Amino acid sequence: MVAAVLCEQLVRIHRSGTTEVQALQGLDLRVEPGEVVAVVGASGSGKSTLLNVLAGTDAPSAGRATVAGHELAGMTAGQRVRYRREVVGVVFQQAARNLLPHLTAEQNVGLPMALAGTGRRERAARTRELLGVLGVAGVAERRPAQSSGGEQQRVALAVALANRPAVLLADEPTGELDTTSSREVLAALSTASTELGTTVLVVTHDPGVSEQVARTVAIRDGRTSSEVLRRTEVDDDGAARLVSEEFAVLDRAGRVQLPREHREALELAHRVRLALEADHIAVRPADRPGR
Ligand code: ADP
Ligand code: MG
Repeated sequence: MVAAVLCEQLVRIHRSGTTEVQALQGLDLRVEPGEVVAVVGASGSGKSTLLNVLAGTDAPSAGRATVAGHELAGMTAGQRVRYRREVVGVVFQQAARNLLPHLTAEQNVGLPMALAGTGRRERAARTRELLGVLGVAGVAERRPAQSSGGEQQRVALAVALANRPAVLLADEPTGELDTTSSREVLAALSTASTELGTTVLVVTHDPGVSEQVARTVAIRDGRTSSEVLRRTEVDDDGAARLVSEEFAVLDRAGRVQLPREHREALELAHRVRLALEADHIAVRPADRPGR
């Protein structure tokens, strides 16, 4: 199966004047079609850079990034325009950046379809379907300024989904919203996944988002460092309970990031001793060979 998102040793360097910032430092990530994945991490850890690379607005400096089989490095300008219009849908934190202010909600949703050459009748039907599924049919004829922030973000989701993208990319879509509106936008995101089958990659600070998805990937210093997987288990009495487990990410070069608490507890620095045991690998301070 072709991965919805595949990043291998992805590097992105931002240059401004004489300074260089390595925002992504060899990031590995694979997302399967239909998955909903939350990306979390401190400010400056490279989350937006990752999304911008996948959105086709920022080019990889090294390594690989592919979305639904489309290789992002080396696209021509024309391919990039079509990629952005047809392969991905993007929602940003600032509602104002997602919608054209002088168009109504339904005109905003119709626009990407018109640009892709979709006929008028199909456009109207798809617009009605999307606004309905996302719970904003009531604002179809309003301009952005005449609806709430939460409604604007749900219309923005409809715009992003209009051309049936392989992947929906959302960068802190609830960042400027109150709790109630955030919940509505989240519900809309999960509807996009369950009813429309869209793969979703959402960057968030909001624990309310990351706790609702099956998989949360943490980025630290431009690399994926750990993942939390959640699933529902049914115990012997038939009661369902949510199980969540945290894993460290092992990259293709064999690197693992040891959590700071673990390093500090054993004063691990610079060098450690590794020993292969029957069913695990032991990591010890260099001055304590063990056994
Ligand atoms: P996040 O979204 O996790 O807060 P970003 O991807 O925005 O992180 O930024 C990662 C790093 O790259 C930060 O150190 C940031 O200052 C830097 N950076 C991001 N965009 C640019 C840019 N256009 N020019 C220079 N540095 C940038
Ligand atoms: Mg950001």
